[in-house]
Amino acid sequence: MMKINITAVSDKLGENIPFRFVTNAQELDALQEDYSFDGDISVEGEYVNTGRCYRFTGTITCVKSFICDRCLEPSTQKQVHDFVEEFRQGSPAADEQAEEIVNYFDGDVIDLTSVIRDVLLSDQPLNNICNADCRGLCLKCGANLNYGDCGCDRTVIDPRLAALQQLLIKK
Ligand SMILES: [Zn+2]
Ligand SMILES: [Zn+2]
Repeated sequence: MMKINITAVSDKLGENIPFRFVTNAQELDALQEDYSFDGDISVEGEYVNTGRCYRFTGTITCVKSFICDRCLEPSTQKQVHDFVEEFRQGSPAADEQAEEIVNYFDGDVIDLTSVIRDVLLSDQPLNNICNADCRGLCLKCGANLNYGDCGCDRTVIDPRLAALQQLLIKK
């Protein structure tokens, strides 16, 4: 559980207080179909009572497993995601200065779980690629080109040019 009781800091304006949690994809409700986060997900940083809100600054560190969209090989990647999230006591309806980027909490406890989940998932790239330089598979023979060239001629010829080429060969 990623909960912080702010009672102790409610009168300590401007003081940075460190926090650290170790969670996992199950606890975060971040289980996905086309990739997974393996083992521990660590969340650490510090928070401060600014007077207007409680501001949390930190990083999420995790290991992601997936199948590369280009070469179809299983791959793992260590990821670090930075975040800054502000929490305000009360509810947006009762807050005349309500802003969309601010999170709200009731009582004395801030639960970071859903905010961390949202940061982690929204920070994922659209494509899962093992490496920016991944060369993918040969369109002709299916060989993984990261292991070397298969020798296929993969030059894509315009079909109209191909017809012309055939004519030239016949002559
Ligand atoms: Zn790849
Ligand atoms: Zn090939």
